[in-house]
Amino acid sequence: MGMLMVKCPQTGRAIPTGIATDRERFRCSAVFFGRTRCPICSVDHAWFAQEAWVDEPALRARRRGTGVLA
Ligand SMILES: [Zn+2]
Repeated sequence: MGMLMVKCPQTGRAIPTGIATDRERFRCSAVFFGRTRCPICSVDHAWFAQEAWVDEPALRARRRGTGVLA
């Protein structure tokens, strides 16, 4: 299980949407859009599913072993 993330258009940083999903489920879901309260800007950002991605802690842990910082 991961967290659906989007990029803050103001700072370019990844922010969590608060939507818990996994890659498989996200890929199969219909195209949609949403609004997320940005913890950096303290405003709502609108986003589309095609610019969102799923951040899964398990995959991040595996990447850490390669020495590549995400
Ligand atoms: Zn923002």
